[in-house]
Amino acid sequence: MPQPGVAALLEVGVGVPELPEVETIRRDLLSRVVGRTFRRVRISPGAERIVRWPSPAEFARALAGQRIEHISRRGKYLLFHLSDGRYLIVHLRMTGALLHRPKDAPEEPYLRISLSLDDSNELRYTDLRKLGNMWLVEEAEPIVGKLGPDALEGVTPQTLRSLIDGRSASIKAVLMDQAALAGLGNIYSEEALFLAGIHPRRPAESLAADELSRLHKAIGDALLEAMGHRGSSFRDYVDAEGREGQHQWHVKVYRRTGEPCYNCGTPIERIKVGGRSTHFCPLCQR
Ligand SMILES: [Zn+2]
Repeated sequence: MPQPGVAALLEVGVGVPELPEVETIRRDLLSRVVGRTFRRVRISPGAERIVRWPSPAEFARALAGQRIEHISRRGKYLLFHLSDGRYLIVHLRMTGALLHRPKDAPEEPYLRISLSLDDSNELRYTDLRKLGNMWLVEEAEPIVGKLGPDALEGVTPQTLRSLIDGRSASIKAVLMDQAALAGLGNIYSEEALFLAGIHPRRPAESLAADELSRLHKAIGDALLEAMGHRGSSFRDYVDAEGREGQHQWHVKVYRRTGEPCYNCGTPIERIKVGGRSTHFCPLCQR
């Protein structure tokens, strides 16, 4: 089978869920579906465009009978490693959810693709806006190879330095650029910059060594704290059991316009950075 061209959509920062939400789903699914075999794949009429490769009919045919050997993650992409060496790659985009459900559970609204397993359960992909994507491929690199290092696992202060050197774009835009660093969107780039005390409009290349090391720590802290709360559910995100995350109650700046900064009491401001709404503390972030 030929491989798809470079089909990965690397829109800057577009996509809730972000890394902590996708990682929460991955960890939930690891214990529930690894070792299981896909049986029947059903794609709802009108949902065919979610399947980016191969054709929807071939996708359904080729997935049936595949055992799930492992599930990994690159940025916001989930990769199911299959017994024939292929990968089922899933990107949830804005409103996608991947639910682990008993086969006899009532159908969810916006159920687009159901993948029954060789036990009493199935994986159900729901997506209000049908913007999510799935690929079934022999090689994962054409899909995820253009991503930068993973924001949770692949980053050291040195890799951050190499990402920002020579980049005059705002540090927030660079953090959200999936080809630079994979996994951060609006929420966690804002939270990390707050924790690091760095103004989101600062040119990336202007960051000093001490600021970079603060930012490195802040990215890890922001992601790990969010994962501790099983992600943020500002809108549509739910985990593999359909439950909301709790981190939306713990964010420091994201969507807190006008509310007092937890450090200094100054009202959080909202500005545009790289065309995106951005929240920050004008006193704590320089
Ligand atoms: Zn402040």
